[in-house]
Amino acid sequence: MGPCVLELCAFRDDTAGLDGPQMPAVPTPTQETFPEIREAVRKLCARFPGPYWRALDREREYPTEFVAALTEAGFLSVLIPEAYGGSGLGLGAATAVLEEIHRSGCNGGACHAQMYTMGTILRHGSDAQKEAWLPKVASGELRLQAFGVTEPDAGTDTTRIATFARRDGDSYVVNGRKLWISRAEHSDLMVLLCRTAARDASPKPSDGMSVLIVDMREARGNGLTIRPVRTMLNHATTELFFEDLRVPMENLVGEEGNGFRYILDGMNAERILIAAECIGDARFFIDRASAYAREREVFGRPIGENQGVQFPIARAYVQMTSAALMVDRAAALFEAGEPCGTEANMAKLVGSEASWFAADTCLQTHGGFGFAEEYDIERKFRETRLYQVAPIANNLVLAYLGHHVLGMPRSY
Ligand SMILES: Cc1cc2nc3c(=O)[nH]c(=O)nc-3n(C[C@H](O)[C@H](O)[C@H](O)COP(=O)(O)OP(=O)(O)OC[C@H]3O[C@@H](n4cnc5c(N)ncnc54)[C@H](O)[C@@H]3O)c2cc1C
Repeated sequence: MGPCVLELCAFRDDTAGLDGPQMPAVPTPTQETFPEIREAVRKLCARFPGPYWRALDREREYPTEFVAALTEAGFLSVLIPEAYGGSGLGLGAATAVLEEIHRSGCNGGACHAQMYTMGTILRHGSDAQKEAWLPKVASGELRLQAFGVTEPDAGTDTTRIATFARRDGDSYVVNGRKLWISRAEHSDLMVLLCRTAARDASPKPSDGMSVLIVDMREARGNGLTIRPVRTMLNHATTELFFEDLRVPMENLVGEEGNGFRYILDGMNAERILIAAECIGDARFFIDRASAYAREREVFGRPIGENQGVQFPIARAYVQMTSAALMVDRAAALFEAGEPCGTEANMAKLVGSEASWFAADTCLQTHGGFGFAEEYDIERKFRETRLYQVAPIANNLVLAYLGHHVLGMPRSY
């Protein structure tokens, strides 16, 4: 019998390149972009292998050395324009960095916000604010990686936040509470969204909110209390309590009352970058699962010979590759300054679903060994689960699409 028709159809092997003689090369989209950056990130990550992350995970400690290495190599300042000391490479480069970090088994959650939180200042801050802060963020002298939006009683409905900044002389006086504010203990500055006018007194619910830059070094102990919240993953997340915290008026970004708009475009960047982390996670799981399925022998043959084992891994690969295309599309729109809310949301949804499916498949492929800490799979499994909830719950992505794209009644 000759080769079966499937073999003639030129399947492309991700690691070996194109098999089939007649098919044009179909590059894996996520491997094509920024190969030098990817290679450099992989080399850096190789210095931080599984045991490093496992030890931190056990104690819920911050990966200080890893973040310092990324900062020193300039990977966290790729989005900052050259004029302010960054490399000004754009969102595509940033997605490549984060994807490779996650594919390597590391976790960018400890510092990814250092890349994009500064976008609020870059796009909406005054020249004086940009000059004062951005070069220091680019060099790593200032850590701007805390983003204070979520509150316990507002949930996803950001217009319900109650943390209030009242004008008093040349300061704002802030009172309220925030929850799930990650990296607050490891940030020198924080982008804080608060109300400066009551919701009821504002023309629209999204009016009357403002963005303040809080200097955490001065604030802590002087009106700001930070309480770490232990979670199922090592994410340095916290609860914040504001009691008459004074923030100089010069730290107001843009115009008072317009803060909600300022953080929205930052959220698009965040969603695209988190989606890139999901692609990296999915790749990690697919790499591990396919390798194990080739090697592990049960009943006298590799488990990967069983379709019940092989097909879910192949499906995970399809989902990951499709999601990666969406991430690239969203990043390209963002870089071009085009509206990208729909694409950013879709990238985040399909990315987080692809990584979660790959995680579950990888765990299942490893049988009991998947549960052992030393394989790093259970850690990554816990880490990637977050992305279906944060930075936006997937239900809310669907609600956005249902209303804004498909014209159905608003459900939120
Ligand atoms: C580890 C971690 C780190 C985080 N870091 C930060 C941070 O640094 N800064 C920050 O500001 N926030 C942060 N968050 C908060 C995160 O963005 C929110 O948890 C997330 O947006 C969901 O909001 P919520 O938890 O209030 O859920 P809720 O809004 O209470 O929703 C609960 C559930 O109900 C569903 N739901 C709610 N409304 C609807 C609706 N209308 N239709 C359908 N389903 C609905 C949601 O999908 C969700 O599954 C973090 C969260 C976690 C867990």
